[in-house]
Amino acid sequence: MNKKKLDKLLSEILTSPWASELYEDGWPYWIQGQQHAKPSKWSHEAERDRNELVRRLRRPAIRCDETEKLAAKLEACSSIDRCLSGACPVCGRAAQKLFVKLTHALLRSDQRIYSTISIVPRKGRFTLPSTKQDLFRRIRKAIEFACDDAGIDVLIGGFDPGVNEHINGAFAPHGQTQLWALGPQLQMISAEKILRKAFPAKGANRRTVRIEEFDGQLNGIAYALKSDFFRRVSIPKARDDDGNVLRRRDTRNRDLRVSQQCDLALALDRAGLGSRLFLRGAEIQMEDAEPRLTLVTRARTARMTKARDRPPS
Ligand SMILES: [Zn+2]
Ligand SMILES: [Zn+2]
Repeated sequence: MNKKKLDKLLSEILTSPWASELYEDGWPYWIQGQQHAKPSKWSHEAERDRNELVRRLRRPAIRCDETEKLAAKLEACSSIDRCLSGACPVCGRAAQKLFVKLTHALLRSDQRIYSTISIVPRKGRFTLPSTKQDLFRRIRKAIEFACDDAGIDVLIGGFDPGVNEHINGAFAPHGQTQLWALGPQLQMISAEKILRKAFPAKGANRRTVRIEEFDGQLNGIAYALKSDFFRRVSIPKARDDDGNVLRRRDTRNRDLRVSQQCDLALALDRAGLGSRLFLRGAEIQMEDAEPRLTLVTRARTARMTKARDRPPS
């Protein structure tokens, strides 16, 4: 499914009566956070975040025609008329809950064990402010290519943008998107070597490909479309007098700076809600007016493309 179609389908789903509960506080919800576990965002928290983003977009130092346009759009988002902006914390939360619900159902109906995978490719780098129409086009292509090479037919996830910085300025701050996804464990394990080759670690000691068995917790699905974005600040390793490592963690997550948050919001709004989704070998389909995430074989995907390209008879 191309990006335009996916955006259209997503807005149809999110504005349908079926989806109104996604904007509320019913299931799905989950526990998130590594150091400080807390429940996933409640609706009033997403609304608070949206109001805060609107305020920030209107700060005198930030404000311009573009930010004002986005601020007005987010401000007008209501239960009667959803804005469906890729930057809206309220609509983004609903899209995340939709993704969790559909993916959870798909995993339950699949006999296979799944793994989570995170990939941090160089092609995921971006600059802020961004002039790109689709912030995730390059990383999407790079990962599709690598999946072709590595024989991965099923990968379900999303793009998570952030900003990398070094505490001493050892490298220039830059945007970096990672893919967070789930795929059948056997495929992930046999693909690992090829993926590492396709996405070599450079400079920073960060692992570019990380595969772990999926523990079944909804957070492992939800993380793909998380709505809080971070600044990863690299910190040199601390050692004691004998050279033993005192501090292992070499990055800290901080909130984005206000200007970064606003620049990212503009880029996400331009890219659209659907652009954060990465669906390979799976499609959202409507069944009895309800959306379902369904596995589609790669061959069938190819045939469907051909059928679509054929002129109508
Ligand atoms: Zn501006
Ligand atoms: Zn909205």
